[in-house]
Amino acid sequence: TAPLAELDPEVAQAMGGELARQRDTLEMIASENFVPRAVLQAQGSVLTNKYAEGYPGRRYYGGCENVDIVENLARERAKELFGAEFANVQPHAGAQANAAVLMALMNPGEKLLGMNLAHGGHLTHGMKLNFSGKLYQVAAYGVDEATHRVDMDQVRKVALEERPQVIVAGWSAYPRQLDFAAFREIANEVGAKLWVDMAHFAGLVATGLHPSPVPHADVVSSTVHKTLGGPRSGLIVAKKEWAKKLNSAVFPGQQGGPLMHAIAAKAVALKIAATEEFAERQQRVLAGSKILAERLGAADVAGNGISVLTGGTDVHLVLVDLRNSELDGQQGEDLLHEVGITVNRNAVPFDPRPPMNPSGLRIGTPALASRGFDEAAFTEVADIIGTALAAGKGADVAALRARVSKLAQDYPLYEGLEDWTIV
Ligand code: PLP
Repeated sequence: TAPLAELDPEVAQAMGGELARQRDTLEMIASENFVPRAVLQAQGSVLTNKYAEGYPGRRYYGGCENVDIVENLARERAKELFGAEFANVQPHAGAQANAAVLMALMNPGEKLLGMNLAHGGHLTHGMKLNFSGKLYQVAAYGVDEATHRVDMDQVRKVALEERPQVIVAGWSAYPRQLDFAAFREIANEVGAKLWVDMAHFAGLVATGLHPSPVPHADVVSSTVHKTLGGPRSGLIVAKKEWAKKLNSAVFPGQQGGPLMHAIAAKAVALKIAATEEFAERQQRVLAGSKILAERLGAADVAGNGISVLTGGTDVHLVLVDLRNSELDGQQGEDLLHEVGITVNRNAVPFDPRPPMNPSGLRIGTPALASRGFDEAAFTEVADIIGTALAAGKGADVAALRARVSKLAQDYPLYEGLEDWTIV
C-alpha cells in the first residue's frame, strides 16, 4: 500500500523528471501524443491484474465478466469509428498487430511488397532484421526521385514483376496521402491481398480528414498512440471474412494474455476519438503541419539550404530536407533539443548521408495540438524552428529557448496531475 514515491523513489523521481520534460519542452515527434487523463486512469488501473486469454465469452480463465465488457466496448467502438465489419483490439503494439496481419494473410516464404524503409516505410513492412524480413520474401516500392511521392505506375510495375501475395500501403515518414483505390486495383491485378497500415494517420481517418483505407483494404492495422491519441498499443480492423484468421493470429498466434488495462484505455480513447472535440483537434493538427511546411519552405529559411519534401504536407507531419544545409539531421535534432523542441532525425529518400546521421528531420503536430495549440501558436513554433535551422551553428539558443518556454507556459500540460488520485 505504500505510494510509489515512498516505495521506489528512484523510479518516482525519473517519472517526475519525465513529467517536467513533457511540460517544459515542445513535443514534435510525429508518432507521439499526450493521452487525456481518463486514458491514464484506465491504463493505471486494476485491470492490469487480470488474465483473459481468449476473446469475450470464450476465455481460458474465470472471472472475466468485467474485462469482457471492456473488450466488447473497445471492439464495437473501433468498428463504429472506422466503419469496419470486424475489429481485434488485443495487439500489444503496432508491431504485434502487423505480425498478426502477416500471419493471417500469408505463409512464411511468400512475398510481401511494401514501401522502402529508406523512403518512409516501417520496419515491419519487410526490413531484413525484422521478423517480416526474416519470415517472408520482400520486395519494395519507393518514391519518385524528382517528386518524392509514391508513383502508382512504379508500384504497378514492381507488383507485376514481383507478384507478391500481400501488398502493404502505409508509412512512418511520408507527408502525403496514399491512393488506396489504386493500390486495390494493383492488388487485384496481381492477385494479392491489400493490407493498409494506418498507424500514423488513423486519427485523421477517424475524423474524415484523410481518405479511409477501410473500404479498399482486406485488412487495416493501426497503432492507437499516434494521431489517434490513445495508449501505446495496436488494433486491427478488417472485412468479416478475415475475422477468424486474424483472431487466431493474434491469440494464440502471436500473443498470450491481452493487456486488459491497455484495452480499457483503448476503449476510452476510441470513445474520445468519436467526439466533436477530437475532430476539432485533428483540424488543428493539419492546420499546424501546413503552417510548419509553409514557414520552413519560406524564402528566408530556404535560402539556407532547407526545404520541405514534396513542398508541403497533407498529414500531421513535415519532412525537412537538410541535404543542402550546413546542418545534418543529427545536428538539426540536437540544435532543436537545445532550444526545447523534440523532433527526430530521419533519412530522406536517396539520402547521401548514412542512416545514423541522415539528412532529414521529421516534425509532427499531434502532441502540440493535444496541448491546445492554435494557428498563432503553431506559427510561433514554426518561426522558432525556421530561425534555429536557418541560423544553424550561429543560432541564438537562449533567445529561442525563452520563446519555447513562453509557449510551454501558455499551453500547460496535465495541470493538477500531482493531485489526481488515480494515475
Ligand atoms: N506501423 C507504422 C506505420 C509505424 O510507424 C509504427 C511505429 O512507429 C508501427 C507500425 C509500430 O508500432 P509500435 O511501435 O507500437 O510497435
